[in-house]
Amino acid sequence: MELKFEPTKNPKHIPTPEELARSRFGTVFTDHMLIIDYDRGKGWHDARVVPYGPLSFEPAACCFHYGQLVFEGLKAYKTKDGRVVMFRPEQNMRRMNDSCERMCIAKIDESEFLEAIAGLVKTDSAWIPSEPGTSLYVRPFIVANEAFLGVRSSNSFIFMTILSPVGPYFTGGLSPIRIRVEDKYVRAVPGGTGFAKCAGNYAASLKSQEEADAAGYSQVLWLDGVERKYIEEVGGMNIAFVIDGEAVTPELNGSILPGVIRKSVIELVKSWGKPMIERKISIGELADFHKAGRVSEAMAIGTAAVICPVGELKWGDNAMKFNDGKIGPVAQRLYDEITAIQTCDAPDKFGWVYEVK
Ligand SMILES: *Cc1c(COP(=O)(O)O)cnc(C)c1O
Repeated sequence: MELKFEPTKNPKHIPTPEELARSRFGTVFTDHMLIIDYDRGKGWHDARVVPYGPLSFEPAACCFHYGQLVFEGLKAYKTKDGRVVMFRPEQNMRRMNDSCERMCIAKIDESEFLEAIAGLVKTDSAWIPSEPGTSLYVRPFIVANEAFLGVRSSNSFIFMTILSPVGPYFTGGLSPIRIRVEDKYVRAVPGGTGFAKCAGNYAASLKSQEEADAAGYSQVLWLDGVERKYIEEVGGMNIAFVIDGEAVTPELNGSILPGVIRKSVIELVKSWGKPMIERKISIGELADFHKAGRVSEAMAIGTAAVICPVGELKWGDNAMKFNDGKIGPVAQRLYDEITAIQTCDAPDKFGWVYEVK
C-alpha cells in the first residue's frame, strides 16, 4: 500500500517530561494522523499521513446513529539505543479484524495496515517520550461514515490512527487501586460483543464507572451477564489472582475481551516453569479463598497500565484486601519483566518486539 505524506505546516510544541507528567492520559496528540478510506467495490484506498486535526462528517453518517465503530490500543517505545519499537502489534491487528467481523466492518490487511501505522509512528517519532513508565499510545480505529438513516452495515468506512504521548495510566504509578464488584449492571453477555473492542461496550459501561467513582473506587469488576456470579474483567483491563501460590485468570468465554497483556502474562508465567490457570472463578469462591487467607495477590492487566495491583475488591459488604494494600511479588515481577521487554532493556526471547524502521 502506498502511503502519501502531507507534512504539517504548524508543528506543535512537544511536551517536556515535566509537562507530560502533569498531563492526563490521552489528552496530548502528535502532529500527524493516518487515514485510509474504504468504499464497497473499491476496497481500502488512499492511505495517507496528514496533519492531525478535525474531520468533516455528514450529520447522517451512520456512526453517529448506530455506533458502528471499533478501535485498538497499543504502545510504541523509544529504546536506550534510540530505536523505535512496538509491543506485539500484530496481535492488535488480528484482534481488530475479529472486532470488524463481529461489527460488520470491512476487514483490513493486517500486515499492510501495521506498516502504515509504523509509517505514522516513524513520522512522529520525536514525540515518543523515554522516561520510565512513559510511551507513545497508538490508537487505531475504524468509523462507519456512510450518510443514511436506515439500519444496515455501512458501505464506507475510514480507518484512522492517532498518537498520544503518555505517562503512567494511574497517577501514583504502581500503587494498588480499589475496585468495586459491579452487581447492578452487566457489560457483556454470551453472543454479544464482549470480545470485540467496540465503542458501544464502553458507552454502556460509563454509568457503572461513574457510580463506582462517586463511591471512591477507581474501577469496576464485571461479573458474567447471565448468572452474575463469575468474574470476567475490569473496565478496560483483564484480571488475575494468585491463589495458593498459583496464578489464575478467568478463561475466555466470548464475553471477556482477549487482552494482549493477558496473553503475554500467561506466556510469561509459563516460561517461569509455573502454572497459569485459565478457568471460571466465581466471586463467592474468591471471597471464600480470600477469607481463608489463600489469595495473596490480585492485579488488573492491560496495555494502558500494564500491571496494576488491586489493593481492595469491594463485593457488597465484603471489602477484600490483598497483600496489605501493597504490590505483591508476582505483580512486581510481571511488571518488571514485561516493561523491560517492551523497552528492549531485556532480551526479546519471545519475539514480541516489532521494530519501526
Ligand atoms: C483493551 C481492553 C482490555 C485489555 O487488552 P490489552 O490488549 O491487554 O490492552 C481488557 N478489557 C477491555 C474491555 C478492553 O477494552
